[in-house]
Amino acid sequence: MSAVYSADRFSELFESLRQGHAAGRLAHAYLVIGAPRGNALALSEALLQLLFCTGDPRPCGECAECRRVREHVHPDILWIEPESKSRRIKIDRIRDDLIPRLAQSSYGGGWKAGVLVQADRLTEDAANAFLKMLEEPPGSSLILLLTDTPQNLLPTIVSRCHRLLLAAEEPGRAEPWRAPLMEVLRKDLAADSLEALAQASRMKAILDTIRKAAEKEQEQEQEDERGPEVVKDVFEARVKTRVLEARAGIVRCLMEWRRDVLLTVLGMGPEELHYPDEGEFIRRQAAGLEYGRALRRFQAVEILHRQLERNVPDELAFENAWLVD
Ligand SMILES: [Zn+2]
Repeated sequence: MSAVYSADRFSELFESLRQGHAAGRLAHAYLVIGAPRGNALALSEALLQLLFCTGDPRPCGECAECRRVREHVHPDILWIEPESKSRRIKIDRIRDDLIPRLAQSSYGGGWKAGVLVQADRLTEDAANAFLKMLEEPPGSSLILLLTDTPQNLLPTIVSRCHRLLLAAEEPGRAEPWRAPLMEVLRKDLAADSLEALAQASRMKAILDTIRKAAEKEQEQEQEDERGPEVVKDVFEARVKTRVLEARAGIVRCLMEWRRDVLLTVLGMGPEELHYPDEGEFIRRQAAGLEYGRALRRFQAVEILHRQLERNVPDELAFENAWLVD
């Protein structure tokens, strides 16, 4: 998942969207991962032109509809960007603009769309309001979330969106936890409580490794700075931030993995998966699961996320994520 994608990736994704649209199989929500004012914006505009274009072949790029999309003045598309001062997307934009707008019928009698440019800038209450709508999206509506830092979005939002990956994820930062986590996920078939305990302690070990690495990194930084020694509180706060970031990334991966298994149980093909490279393991896990259990296993990760937010101890919360009937 760390490859840097080229222009080919853009054409490939657009072609799959074009086919999806032709077959009437577009998703309700897409997470467009790339530069929010570069390739992610371009792909979003191309997709919206595809929806609204009246030319032939679609999108023609020349008709009035295509032009309105490009100039961001189309009456059936609401563009939402972070406020210039706070650099955040606040709840009133979601509650007072986006939700009512998508609930209304469209001007043109067809699609209506909402685009969040830099969706990672949603405030916490805005994200929660948005999530509620995403759980029951209005009909004939399309939601696009543009971001270059998907790790800053709620995992519950990410898991409900179809992902269009234009850029390497989490650029500039190595993720030392990813390889050991993948090892755990490939064995993600907790048959009994003993195995659940074992999986939870494997997760704990990964988190401990992250903490040690973060402490070392901070010590190193202090030495390099040669400035006044960072006070203990600041040191610990920085380490904690790194651990929490990594933990959020781990929960997101677990959620994506179980979503992949759930989709496979439902008969979706590898092109729908977050981890197509892991298809063999995912298929093997899906083969042993009935739908209800696969769904509960997925939901258990949403519960895990909420428990961690409420400061339930890591190991206990992770254990619950594996103790699913
Ligand atoms: Zn057109």
